[in-house]
Order: sequence, then C-alpha cells, then structure tokens
Amino acid sequence: MKTFDEALAYLLSKAVVTSYTEEIEINTALGHILACDIVSELNVPPHHNSMMDGYAVRADEMVEGKVFTISQSITAGTIGKPLQRGTVARIFTGAPMPMGADSVIMQEEATDVKGGVKFSASSFRLKQNVRHIGEDIAKGNTILSKGHALRPQDLGLIASIGVKKVTVYQPLTIATFTTGDELLEPGEQVEAGKIYNSNRYLLAGFISQLGLKLIDLGRIPDTLDATKSALTQAATVADVIITTGGVSVGDEDHIKPAVEALGHLDLWKVKMKPGKPLAYGRVLDTPFIGLPGNPVSAFTTFCLFARPYLLTMQGQAEVVPKPIWLKAGFDWKKPGVRREFVRVRLENQIQGNASPTTEVVLYSNQGSGVLTSTVWADGLAVIPENSIIKKGELIAYYSGR
Ligand code: AMP
Ligand code: MG
Repeated sequence: MKTFDEALAYLLSKAVVTSYTEEIEINTALGHILACDIVSELNVPPHHNSMMDGYAVRADEMVEGKVFTISQSITAGTIGKPLQRGTVARIFTGAPMPMGADSVIMQEEATDVKGGVKFSASSFRLKQNVRHIGEDIAKGNTILSKGHALRPQDLGLIASIGVKKVTVYQPLTIATFTTGDELLEPGEQVEAGKIYNSNRYLLAGFISQLGLKLIDLGRIPDTLDATKSALTQAATVADVIITTGGVSVGDEDHIKPAVEALGHLDLWKVKMKPGKPLAYGRVLDTPFIGLPGNPVSAFTTFCLFARPYLLTMQGQAEVVPKPIWLKAGFDWKKPGVRREFVRVRLENQIQGNASPTTEVVLYSNQGSGVLTSTVWADGLAVIPENSIIKKGELIAYYSGR
C-alpha cells in the first residue's frame, strides 16, 4: 500500500507532456493549455490616457475658480495637439493625454462659464485621473507562461496586446470503459439485480470538462477476454485509458490480470478513503488508470489522481489543487488509518453582530456508493490519517467547482 502522497507523486512522475502543439485562434482557445510563453511587444495602454470624462490640464496652472479657455476636444481613438499654456482640453475616457497635460479634472468638478470653464477641484492632485502608458502591460513583459490553462480573462489579456493566435497543446484522446455485469444503461428497462451505469457519464463529463477528446467504449462484461479485448482496442486509439470497476481481487475483477497480460501494473492500493483500489500501469505502452467501481470512489480518485495526471500529460504546469484552510463545522470522532476525503460544502454562519465565518459542513452519509453526497457537496475536505477533528478546528478544503 502506498500513502496518498506517495501515490500522487509517483503518478505525476510518470506523466509525460504530449509533444504535439497547434496554433489556434484565441476565440477557440478557451480551456486550452499554452505551449509557449506569451511576451508583449506593446505597452498597454499604449499612451497616457484619461480615466474620466473631463478636462486635461497642467497641474502647475491650476487655481480654483480661475477661468480657462477650452483649446481643443479629444475623443477616445484620436490624438490631440500639444496643450497650449493657459488653456485646458476637453477630454473623454480613454482618450490619449495631449502633450503638456499631466492631470484630468472630472467634468462633475467643472462649471461652464462665459469664455471657458472653471474648476471647483477641492482635492487636486498631480497626475490625477490619468492612466499611465504600460501600467497594465509593459513592452517585453511575459503576460502568460507556457503550461497555463486559458480562461476568459486570459483571452481578453492576449487580445489586448493585439495577438490573434496562440500555440497550445493538442487535446489528448482518452478511451474509457466501465466494467460490471450488473450495469444497465440509462433508458434500458429496469431489471432485478441490476443497477444503472453512472460512472460512464461521470467519466464522460470529467473528460469533456477538461477539454479532452473522449472515446467511450461503453460497458464491458466481467470476463477476462472481454476486458483484454476492450483494453487492446483502447490502447490502439487513445493516449490514456481510464476505466472504473473490476480493480479489486474478487473472482469477477478482471482488470488486474488483463492489464498484466497486455502490459504491466505499477500501482495497486492507496491508503485513502474512499478509493482504496486504484490501478496504474501500461497496456501495450498506453498509460492506464483503473479507478474503483463505487461511484463516489471513482469521483474522488478521478479528482485527486486522474485529473492532475491528465492535465500534466496535457501540458498544464500547475495541476495539484491548493487547499483552503477553514473551520470544521463538525466533530470527527473516529480516527482512521487511511486519509479520508469527505464530501462537504461551505456555509457562511452569521450570528447577531459577530463577523460572519465560513464553516465546512459534512454530508450526512459518507458511503462510497452514495453519489448524492458528491452532488450536494461543493468540495472535499481532508481528515488526516489517525486523526480526530473538533468542531472549529481548521481543516483543508479543496473546492470542487
Ligand atoms: P467493483 O469495483 O467492480 O467491485 O464495483 C464496486 C461497486 O461499485 C459495486 O457495488 C458495483 O456495482 C458498483 N459499480 C461499479 N461500476 C459501476 C458503474 N459504472 N456505475 C455504478 N455503480 C458501479
Ligand atoms: Mg465489478
């Protein structure tokens, strides 16, 4: 048995970045992982500009109540003339500052008078209401690094330096199948002794959420031959194989012998709960991850092992989630030898005039077959090995959003 940390470190040490990259337009790049740093060839903003609708002025000429001539009007997207001494320029938000002007007085502090405008600026400061050249991005800055997964704000930032295409890693292809003679597909007639296949849809959702390509081989019967042939097919079409079920050592568990017949199995059991039986190996040289059959175990081990593994292979730099330390809203009285990942959600407690606090609330049934717990929860919290938790103590919470 490996500890959780040993298993994760081992798995990540085996994850090799796919070498294929492609150039794509930023409007299709959401969720893709950058294969190159992005360096700006521009300053953003490209010039000092006004933060407000108002008047561009020279600070050293400002006297409250004095009447100034308005010598020009500068709208966003145009370039004004140098500001004549003793005058001010009408200016609009985003318009470049005219040469000589150093500050902007907002229009709410200006009064139109005969022959010009006067100001009632009570707290005038040099350079007020001016956005400075390069204050967002300076020319030469690396705005995003290789290995970064692109979010909407990243796409906006890339667009702001005028770049239309980015080099990203091509999505991996993942082949999945679920094992179990007891499984029915949704839509099939209810049958005594059978249950519906939830893991198939859980896995498909995860793969799609990660932006990867899915080859879903469906439900495979509990025989060694069927398992071997599904694994062989998966290995020839995919970069990684992920399965659920059949990883224990019961008579109906065929994953272990099938993988060993076609390749090798490196990892077997992890000291964690839920999810003790977890398999990692190679089938005809294609990486293989065998998740447990219990749906909550499959969910948890996908989040904690398969996701960081796949993201590393996909080229992402930071793959291990960072915990947030928050107050436990429950007592945990029975210490266990395995590290436990419990389904929890965050609730804000507001009592009278006291400052609100956030508590980690535990789902009432932590059974590894109770998939409702994963739907109710918004994350996982950690109960360390051989530990109890007292309500109010800080515990590690991993967001599942
Ligand atoms: P196994 O790991 O194959 O022994 O399965 C452990 C438990 O998870 C058993 O109760 C199975 O019926 C259940 N199980 C396995 N695969 C699935 C699945 N795809 N959907 C729902 N439950 C499953
Ligand atoms: Mg089974």
